[in-house]
Amino acid sequence: MQDSYGRNITCLRLSVTELCNLRCRYCMPEEGICKRRHEEMLTQEEMVLAAEAAAALGITKIRITGGEPLVKKNILVICEHIAAVPGIQELCLTTNGTLLPPLAQSLRASGVQRINISLDTLQPEKYAALTRKGTFQEAWAGIQSALEAGFSKVKLNAVLIGGYNDDEIRDLAELTLRYPLDVRFIELMPTVGAAAFPPEAYLPAEAVLQALPEAVPQPTDGGVAELYRLPGAMGNIGIIRPVSVSFCGSCNRLRLTADGKLKPCLHSPEEYNLKGLDREGMIAQMRLAIQNKPRQHAPLSQAAPSQAGRSMNRIGG
Ligand code: SAM
Ligand code: SF4
Repeated sequence: MQDSYGRNITCLRLSVTELCNLRCRYCMPEEGICKRRHEEMLTQEEMVLAAEAAAALGITKIRITGGEPLVKKNILVICEHIAAVPGIQELCLTTNGTLLPPLAQSLRASGVQRINISLDTLQPEKYAALTRKGTFQEAWAGIQSALEAGFSKVKLNAVLIGGYNDDEIRDLAELTLRYPLDVRFIELMPTVGAAAFPPEAYLPAEAVLQALPEAVPQPTDGGVAELYRLPGAMGNIGIIRPVSVSFCGSCNRLRLTADGKLKPCLHSPEEYNLKGLDREGMIAQMRLAIQNKPRQHAPLSQAAPSQAGRSMNRIGG
């Protein structure tokens, strides 16, 4: 379905939980979040109904996210049911990777076609400091398990943080020389509930191109990332600039939070409730959310943080 600005809405990001086994400084408060009552959260059946409603309105791609989707006990069943919804052509999942090794094969068998794994550094001490809980070894084992399970395109997502990992741009990018994966750099967004970062942390993604002068531009794959490739590489380098450049004009997404709130824009406060509705009720709310999808969100900067009203783990990044 098209929104009122002619954008064709084809993608739903479905958050299956707000909970996470990590506490990344840019995403979640250190103390975590209050675990909410079961009755407040979408049930497995409601998630599948929402996928059916989305498909009825022309959504063809669903990305499962969170919080950390792999802490959800019934994640395989959720994926299996959503993959089977007629009209859903692509089922993808975003994870921190640390819980992936025992699940990678089963996720693939359940119908997940593509996996994105978040990895901001290759240095174990930095990984522990940024995630406050995780180990680099666990995340790396997760990446290896995704490659071994044969997902069609494994993408690593690194949040670019000045003074933290800008000295690792080349090391991260050169993973594409050794492994069949894409490495994408995303600008740090000033989100709700994140730790305070110094101004130099908000580094424009241009820094990636400056660090990799030999990177060759590649044709777009239709996504939000600008693509480049190192000579001889097996995968692409992606640059995602949510802060320095607005891509609202081509945004094709809706987000559904784990407590059943449909967000037509990541950085705007509007939410449409789906919790407790039947399929027809969900279709009506989804139609309304698409019709009222804001043209754009307010420009982001450290002085003007996101107006989402929720931390990233409670939205679904
Ligand atoms: N737990 C999973 C993970 O970490 O991949 C999925 C949920 S996480 C909220 C989704 C993505 O949002 C991750 O790639 C994470 O790096 C990104 N993210 C969270 N907070 C961010 C921020 N302030 N700026 C940029 N990206 C952010
Ligand atoms: Fe958890 Fe992902 Fe947020 Fe890190 S970015 S705290 S792994 S939800």
